[in-house]
Amino acid sequence: MTTEAKSKVLVLDATAFYSGLPYAGLEIYKTTKQVLKEVSRGIKYQAIINTLLEAKRLEVEEPPVEVYQKVKEVALKTNDLPYLSEADLSILALALHYSRKCDATIVSDDYAVQNVAQTLNIPFLPTMSKGIKKMVKWIRYCPGCGKSYATNIRSCPICGTTLKRKFQSSKEINY
Ligand SMILES: [Zn+2]
Repeated sequence: MTTEAKSKVLVLDATAFYSGLPYAGLEIYKTTKQVLKEVSRGIKYQAIINTLLEAKRLEVEEPPVEVYQKVKEVALKTNDLPYLSEADLSILALALHYSRKCDATIVSDDYAVQNVAQTLNIPFLPTMSKGIKKMVKWIRYCPGCGKSYATNIRSCPICGTTLKRKFQSSKEINY
């Protein structure tokens, strides 16, 4: 029996494959063909990728074009665009696409990817040598009146103060 009441999707960028991905986990991993192309250059990752694909644990998908454009616009605003590869943009778009319908998290150690994910309110997980340990999610809060907002707005609708960002929670994820 599987427990897929609320499906959890982990969207992987190249750094996720390179550093301590929990290959024995239960989540469905998603990535894009651009990322796979990048990772497949390393021979040692090919066997792992093939195993994950055969076990149907890894799915390769393309994000919708309009979502990709939206990510590009946001990355331009946050000045991260020059630091993002096509592969980076593609996984941000895929994660944004899935975050609209289920629980999607980006797995990446790339600072620009994390920064854009944060701006788009997509939770992200940094990878670590021993695997993914902490869930990081940012929320916006108003330094004026103290109210928190989960939506991607720049100023407080109540008092007009420019919002700041902070960590909402950090919890252990068990594999
Ligand atoms: Zn306020």
